[in-house]
Amino acid sequence: MMITWKEVINFANNGNPEPDRRVEKTEAEWQEQLTPEQFRITRKKGTEAPHSGALCSIYDEGHYNCICCNSPLFDSTIKFSSSSGWPSFTQPIEKNAIKYEKDSTFGMTRVEVMCNTCDAHLGHVFPDGPEPSGLRYCINSASMQMETKNITEEIKTEKETK
Ligand SMILES: [Zn+2]
Repeated sequence: MMITWKEVINFANNGNPEPDRRVEKTEAEWQEQLTPEQFRITRKKGTEAPHSGALCSIYDEGHYNCICCNSPLFDSTIKFSSSSGWPSFTQPIEKNAIKYEKDSTFGMTRVEVMCNTCDAHLGHVFPDGPEPSGLRYCINSASMQMETKNITEEIKTEKETK
């Protein structure tokens, strides 16, 4: 599986793939669950200051899950070091993990990236990432939590069964 810019544009224009499940909560419920910063970014489409995010310079093995609904969004194998100041990835963990929408705020046309399970705002995707996909998912640290537990074990088991 590899998502290309063409596919991203197609999703943003014509609709996104079905998620495996949906999580829907009221604004008050999200507010209770999240910190003010997490709420501002994920539910109000905010942006954290560059280089401020906790996950920015972490390259541990593991999954990056949605801070709102804990769905896996990205993993450490597709994270790359970009100078943007936000965690950057070249691909989502699954094609239907992410939702794309055209964003015309601030006088720019960009593609907004959201969690496909709960619609949390994550960041934006740009067509200037490294090959082979050429994509750069620029994601707020505050919208994700890292899950490192048992990952090394999982990888080992996968290798053994192959
Ligand atoms: Zn979510």
